[in-house]
Amino acid sequence: MMAQYQSMRKSLPADMILFYRLGDFYEMFFEDAKAASPIMNVALTKRGGTPMCGVPYHAAQGYIARLLKAGKRVAIAEQTSEAVAGKLVSREIARILTPGSIDDIALLDDQRPNYLAAVCRHGKSAGLACVDHTTGEFTIAEFADIGQLEDELARISPSELLIPDHQTAEFGKLVNCLVYEGYTFLPEHASQLLKEQFNVHSLDGFGCAALHAASGAGGAILHYLIHQLRRPCGHLHPPRVRESADHVLIDASSQRNLDLVDSRSGKAHTLLGVLDRTATPMGARLLRDWILHPLRDLTALTARQDLIASFLAEPYLLSKCREALKGIRDIERTTSRLSQGSGNARDLQSLGVSISHIPALKEDLSSLPAASSLQPHLCSRLHTFHELTEMLAQALTDEPPAHLRDGGVIRDGWSPELDELRNASRGGKDWIARLQEDERKRTGIDSLKIKFNNVFGYFIEITTTHLAKVPDDYTRKQTMSNAERYITPALKEMENKVLGAEERSKQLEAELFAQLRTQVITHLPTLQETAAAVAEIDVLCALAEVAQYHRHCRPVLNQEKGFFVTNGRHPVLEQTLTDVKFVPNDTELDPETARLQILTGPNMAGKSTYIRQIALIAVMAQIGAFVPAEAATIGLVDRIFCRVGASDDLSRGQSTFMVEMSETALILNHATDKSLVILDEIGRGTATFDGLSIAWAVAEHLHDQIGCRTLFATHYHELTDLSNTKAAVANYNVAVREWNEEIIFLHKILPGAADKSYGIQVARLAGLPKPVVERAKSILSHLELHSVKPEAKKQGPKAKNTDQPSLPKPNPPQMDLFADF
Ligand code: ADP
Repeated sequence: MMAQYQSMRKSLPADMILFYRLGDFYEMFFEDAKAASPIMNVALTKRGGTPMCGVPYHAAQGYIARLLKAGKRVAIAEQTSEAVAGKLVSREIARILTPGSIDDIALLDDQRPNYLAAVCRHGKSAGLACVDHTTGEFTIAEFADIGQLEDELARISPSELLIPDHQTAEFGKLVNCLVYEGYTFLPEHASQLLKEQFNVHSLDGFGCAALHAASGAGGAILHYLIHQLRRPCGHLHPPRVRESADHVLIDASSQRNLDLVDSRSGKAHTLLGVLDRTATPMGARLLRDWILHPLRDLTALTARQDLIASFLAEPYLLSKCREALKGIRDIERTTSRLSQGSGNARDLQSLGVSISHIPALKEDLSSLPAASSLQPHLCSRLHTFHELTEMLAQALTDEPPAHLRDGGVIRDGWSPELDELRNASRGGKDWIARLQEDERKRTGIDSLKIKFNNVFGYFIEITTTHLAKVPDDYTRKQTMSNAERYITPALKEMENKVLGAEERSKQLEAELFAQLRTQVITHLPTLQETAAAVAEIDVLCALAEVAQYHRHCRPVLNQEKGFFVTNGRHPVLEQTLTDVKFVPNDTELDPETARLQILTGPNMAGKSTYIRQIALIAVMAQIGAFVPAEAATIGLVDRIFCRVGASDDLSRGQSTFMVEMSETALILNHATDKSLVILDEIGRGTATFDGLSIAWAVAEHLHDQIGCRTLFATHYHELTDLSNTKAAVANYNVAVREWNEEIIFLHKILPGAADKSYGIQVARLAGLPKPVVERAKSILSHLELHSVKPEAKKQGPKAKNTDQPSLPKPNPPQMDLFADF
């Protein structure tokens, strides 16, 4: 057996964990056991010096889930012959499970996609391919550099990522990566496989013939799925090219800083959390995708806005559409499972329920006033499947069991043959029930019982006290401690009929189920198209609902470079503030006069909130959503950068300042005059004058060279001097009031620079001990008395003061100043 194990183990990649079936257990040996036991939290034992561990087969799913979650791949070897004494049982690898190709619903989050991705470089281009095996989604993209590729990876966060074995130097550091055979990434090999899979002569039709890096990655994924994991791939859509030029690019750290889809404080504190009023899992997944890939195409955005507006104009139809959507389940993942032969009767039943709601949805959607070009397009992609719906409703019971072997999947009346078998079995059971009564009377034993078990089938049980009364025609089968078990020829004859009929009816149910599934699969393309349309309608309905519920307005979008918002609000904070009301603010990023805004004001005044609010409004506008404001006119942006200071990225082992500067470099190297740049406290990670000089130079470059729309929140009050010399720099501050030495934050953005920084008041609010606050006050007044305002650009780099620079700077030599104090 160990020899069989070893040869099987050798055929698998080293990092895979082999679950080797031994009777009622899956066993792991050697390195597999050592790697898996701590993850599964089971004991590692030794037998004859061999490290091993095992899990019971019926509980394997939970253990496998843990391994997959930890990024491991698991190969399952099942026994394929009956156990016969003295003979080696044969075994085969039945399934290979990996984090990026999970199909089991219990292991999946229905709100997010589960991606298997592949990357490779070809010439200068970096290619990416991405498959969600649960839905059949297949996208590819090509990037000019690896940085952009990494940003996209951060967006999609694949569970598993294939990299070619000859490019580990470039890609080996990526998260969840798995080295895979390099030849499968080669353009010739990959495109051949893609052509075979999708049955085409050329990849031109998919727009990826010239994208060698991307199609290389696509071919490698297919190879991996088909040849290594042996997965059916018939449900995969042909690859769709994601053009970076179509989307607003949001790099990985900006995405994090804006809390678009994930936040340490939970989903409610993300933009997705606020917008996600979708009713179906497909809609939830699509909305997430939209938020991570806002559009730049004015026509497409206008079409989305128009449809949302039509829904808002017809609230009755909106609520009817949402009603229909609520009845629709995960058509996308269900059909994928069915098409791979792995779906069960519940999948069929839920599909039947889902498609039964499509006609109503279609009717309501087409009753909307025809305002959006999307409406006819979506309607035409909603197929109605009347016959299929009818068939599934008639064929399946209302609550079919998860396993076919339990029987009861097919409804009475669907198949005459099945009805007959069921009647036979029911009749037989009635006969047996009657027999108990008859035998009690005949023998005079009231406690006589007819029972059933899997070993003996039906038998008559008589307690020991009544043994004297047992008739002669009973044959004893088994002796228990307080009873004897008997059979009779008539009972066995009926048992054969009952069990035979049951066995046959289960077989027949399995055949009927397979027929239904085959019927469903013939509709695969239209089901997939319908699922995609449902997802889109669901997202648009959700956005309409959000707009209505949170009083969002329709922004005017154009190709200009302004950004004007009246009474704008932060979409997320507005919803999460509990005891205070959110203070709305205007924004006027005028390309001629106020393209770069310097925002000053004390800590806690609301600077970060305000500048993020603008970025979030931009994202919302460019997914086609309405925005939290009274009015807005927004020139479409091509990229959004959101750089936030002092966010230690210790996990990446880089110093705060280094991270800050590399992110700033990214902005300066990639922003265009159509980008939106949000900078919060840049330059704080170094000495004041270094920091100020860097911030100053960055602001100048953004204004003079790039010309993008910029919001610059800073403690460097000196930066406000820029507005004296730069045409499109404008100063703003956040209003605060002092009252009885208390500071009151008004959260209102006003033109002009802040006059004071109120650091000490904020420190007191934060609970600094009173004596320290008093001492700080007297030091401050002393400093103010003795200082001369530094001219930012002329200061030497020596000063070590990392205080808020809005405090008047002590003149060097500062030590003397403190000495006489
Ligand atoms: P800063 O960046 O100036 O230090 P923040 O933007 O972090 O300040 O805001 C501090 C707190 O003030 C926020 O957590 C929020 O509770 C509150 N806040 C900010 N802006 C507003 C607003 N417009 N309306 C109401 N509360 C606000």
